[in-house]
Amino acid sequence: MQAVLDFFRHLPKKVCISCGVEMDEQSDCYVNQCHECTPDVYYPRRPIAG
Ligand SMILES: [Zn+2]
Repeated sequence: MQAVLDFFRHLPKKVCISCGVEMDEQSDCYVNQCHECTPDVYYPRRPIAG
């Protein structure tokens, strides 16, 4: 039973694929980049320039 707990404790932290920063606040499993490296499409506050 203890081994199961150790397994979850040693799970690798999710890091940004671009800058390598730890993203433990990111819960979206499809996000591989931190908000600093994510394109504007992640926060569509303005129309995408064509
Ligand atoms: Zn990043």
